[in-house]
Amino acid sequence: MSHCEHHYYKTRASQPYLATLNLIKTNMTGFATTTIHGADHLPGVADVVQPIHISTNFKYSENPEALKKAIDFTVEDLENNVYSRCGHSNSKAVEEIVGKLLGGNAVVYNSGLSALFAAVVGLNPKKVALNHGYHGCRGVLNLFTRVGGAEIFDLDNIDQLGKGDLVVLETPVNPDGTVSDIQKYADLAHKQGALLLVDSTFAPPPLQYPFNQGADVIMHSATKFFGGHSDLLAGILVLKSKELQNKLLIDRMYLGTIIGSLEANLLVRSLRTFELRVVRQVENAKKIVDFLVENKDSLPDLASVTHGSLQTEEFIKTQMPNGHSPVFTFKAKSEQIAKSIPSKLKFFHHATSLGGVESLIEWRVMSDDTASPLLLRVSVGVENVEDLIGDLKAALGGK
Ligand SMILES: *Cc1c(COP(=O)(O)O)cnc(C)c1O
Repeated sequence: MSHCEHHYYKTRASQPYLATLNLIKTNMTGFATTTIHGADHLPGVADVVQPIHISTNFKYSENPEALKKAIDFTVEDLENNVYSRCGHSNSKAVEEIVGKLLGGNAVVYNSGLSALFAAVVGLNPKKVALNHGYHGCRGVLNLFTRVGGAEIFDLDNIDQLGKGDLVVLETPVNPDGTVSDIQKYADLAHKQGALLLVDSTFAPPPLQYPFNQGADVIMHSATKFFGGHSDLLAGILVLKSKELQNKLLIDRMYLGTIIGSLEANLLVRSLRTFELRVVRQVENAKKIVDFLVENKDSLPDLASVTHGSLQTEEFIKTQMPNGHSPVFTFKAKSEQIAKSIPSKLKFFHHATSLGGVESLIEWRVMSDDTASPLLLRVSVGVENVEDLIGDLKAALGGK
C-alpha cells in the first residue's frame, strides 16, 4: 500500500460517517449552500468536484483486530466502503446532501420505483391506500401484493387501515399537478396507526417539505427534478426515523437496488444547480400558466388549463409557500388537435418524463391509457420564457 492510500484509509477510519452527519445536521446551512457543500466533509480527495469512484470492492482494514465476518455486519460497518452494492462514496454523498436538504435520513436507489418498492418491503404493510397518480407506483404495489398478499385501497378508504399499514399520497399528482392536503392525510393515516409516504416528485424542495405536514416518509423520483438533465435514473427515500434508514440500508444490500456510481456522481453534479434550476422552472411555469389562462379566448385550440397555482384551498398556502410545480396540463378542443400540438412546437420536445432543464410536452394517453385523449402534460424547463410562451401561443392557434 502506498503512503497516499494509507493516509486515505486512516482519514476515513478517524472520521466516522454518522458522527460527522450529526455534527453537520445541528448546523444547517441555506439551500444552495447545502446542495453544493453538503458532502464536502466526507473523507475523500482534494478535488473540488466529487470524483467518480467506479470500484466495486474496497480493501479491508489492515488491522487484524478490526476484521469481522460479514454475517455480523451492522449498518455501522457499511460506513466504510466494502462492496459497492452495500454503499459507495458516490451514493453516500447523495444521501448526505439530500438528508440535510429535507431534514431527515436519506437512502438512494437506482430508480424512483425501486425506492417505492424498498419502502413497502421495509415497512411491510398488510394494507396500502393510494391515490390515482403515476401508473408505475400502482404497478409496484401490484407486484408487492403478488408477493406478500397485501390489499390495496383508495384514499377514501383509509379507515379500513390498521396499525403498521401505509398510505401512499402523490402530491402534486400526476399528470395534472393538482395539490392534496398532506396534513389531512397524515392525520387520517396516524389515526389508524398507519404511516404516510408522500411521493413528492412533482414538487421538489424548495417547493414542498412533507415532514412539515406530518409525513413519515418522503419519496422522490430523482430522475426528474433532482437529476434535472434527463440523463440519470434514481430514486430517493427520506425517513424521519434513523432506525428505519438503517433498516432500509441493510435491506438495499439484498434488494440490490443501490444507485450506480456513475449516476450518483451525475446526481451530485445536478444538486449543485438544484435551487437555480427549480426556481427558474417554477417562475417560467407560473408565467406560462398565467398567459394561457388570461389569453384563453384568443387561443382557439385551448380548452382548459390545470395547475396547482389555480387552486384556491387554504392549506395550499402553508404546504407550498414557495410556488407550484413546473408541471401542468392543458386540454385541447379535440383529440386530433391534441395529437398534433406537439409537432407544432419548436422548444418543447415531445417525450415522456419531466423535471429536466429542457421543456417537454406529452400527449399523455401515450404513456397512461387512463388519461383523457385531449390531455397534454407540460414540464417547463429553464429556457427563455418569452420563447416558450410564443411557441405555445402559435401552436394553440393564437395570432
Ligand atoms: C417518474 C415518477 C416515478 C417513478 O420514478 P422512476 O425514477 O422513473 O422509477 C414515481 N412517481 C412519480 C410521481 C413520477 O413522476
